[in-house]
Amino acid sequence: MLKVFNSDISNPDNFVVTIELVPGRESIGTSTDTLIGIAKDAFADGRISAVSITDNPGGNPSLSPDVLGYEIFKHGMDVIVHFTCRDMNRVGMESRALQLARMGMKNILALTGDYSGKGFGGQGAPVFDFDSVILTAMLQNLNQRFLLSGDPDGFFTGCAVSPFKTTEAECQAQYRKLDLKIKAGASFIITQLGYDVDKFQELITQNQIKGIKLPVLASLYLLSPNSARVMNRGRVPGAMVSDSLYNRIIAEWEQSSKKGLESAVERASKLAVILKGVGYNGIHIGGIHKSFKTVAAILDKMATIEHNWQDYLEEFKSDDKSDFYLYKQHVNLNKTKDLVKTKSQEKPSSDAKKEQFLENLFDHYPYRFMKKAHELFFNKSSSFAPLYKALAEIIDKNNKGWLLKLLVEDPFKKLFLSCRSCGDCAIQHIAFQCPEYGCPKHTRNGACGGSRDGFCEVNKDKKCIWVRAWSRLKKSGESDELSKEFIPPRMWELNHSSSWLNFHLNRDHQKNGDI
Ligand code: SF4
Repeated sequence: MLKVFNSDISNPDNFVVTIELVPGRESIGTSTDTLIGIAKDAFADGRISAVSITDNPGGNPSLSPDVLGYEIFKHGMDVIVHFTCRDMNRVGMESRALQLARMGMKNILALTGDYSGKGFGGQGAPVFDFDSVILTAMLQNLNQRFLLSGDPDGFFTGCAVSPFKTTEAECQAQYRKLDLKIKAGASFIITQLGYDVDKFQELITQNQIKGIKLPVLASLYLLSPNSARVMNRGRVPGAMVSDSLYNRIIAEWEQSSKKGLESAVERASKLAVILKGVGYNGIHIGGIHKSFKTVAAILDKMATIEHNWQDYLEEFKSDDKSDFYLYKQHVNLNKTKDLVKTKSQEKPSSDAKKEQFLENLFDHYPYRFMKKAHELFFNKSSSFAPLYKALAEIIDKNNKGWLLKLLVEDPFKKLFLSCRSCGDCAIQHIAFQCPEYGCPKHTRNGACGGSRDGFCEVNKDKKCIWVRAWSRLKKSGESDELSKEFIPPRMWELNHSSSWLNFHLNRDHQKNGDI
């Protein structure tokens, strides 16, 4: 087993460089040979700690990162395997993890994953049995089992975070989920892609404030007009390219391809030295599809401009004044004043009042009602709990759970929550929204990285449920509750049974009473 990446990134004096490779939809052929060639050249260059290999990016089928990774691994180059939750249930995922361990490939980037794309005959079924937090916990659990069976080298699991969210709710959702990923066992962090240096700094500041000491790699991407366009239009979940940056890139490539590529290398190098300057432990370079030469050019350029990194800061400031920043000290002073002034001087318009009224009517009051009802009927420390338990036992003993479900539970939960009858209810963890209905990825532990301006990666006309959860909790002064604790995976054995009985009879995920 190679431990190059693990040992490189664990040394705080190192500035680590990794490259992301994206396999194509073929088992042999030029694209596969090119990737192997890039990895071999990276190994020969000696400055790269590992290559990471994507797992069916965009949800579309591609050569497995496990098999491509193993070929590269055998050449001596360390590999980080991307491991998503989209295509397999927990049984398949554990089996895949065991297979990777057997092959010696234990650097994992645990991801919830993009939504399902198209395969043979149409769109694939989205599985999402786990989210990335639960996957990380599963790998950690496997590590304990490995240890018991005499294998001290467990999975070295990393996680992703996007500091590039533009609303307060999304920022909070990202950082709360990061906390859970770390608690579940993540050992390193890789950011999603963006070009706002204040946002990059925000993550470092946030980690310092919270005492998070995990190494963080920043994603960089060699932007071509095509990749910039799809990211600018939101077609790569989580990747942010602003309009002004996109326009600059188009103008550069219009001069000539040579000029475009030179500018892309220069931009990546400048951002890389800034990131090193502000405290990142390394960079994770994507967009390398043809040759290792561009990576070498970025690294060579970095060596020549590193000492001047502060000179380039202004080039990577966002020009969108409406973006939310968690820490205002990172925003330049004028922008901060503008933001505060705009907010404090605004008088609520009649439209805003109407919006507020509707929000209260359809969101806030139903939330308060459901919370009260939940406290009354589903609180195991309340004085009524023994009575509910006794009633549940009588109903269950007489096999009348289905009747309770049909006549009371289903009508209520379908009307208020569009309940999907999973039998293992998690609404209380997401401000009384159903993750089976409301989130296409069924996330239980926080938002995926794909939301954009508060809207869902998949259902683009709907708010992300975690954004709605944040609004509900904040309005009720309960924002600390968002993603406060690890929520275990749904228990599929309870599917279509009464969640009310399951709760009171200690059958569901809350049976141990610790959540
Ligand atoms: S609802 Fe939120 S967490 Fe779920 S898929 Fe959409 S963006 Fe991701």
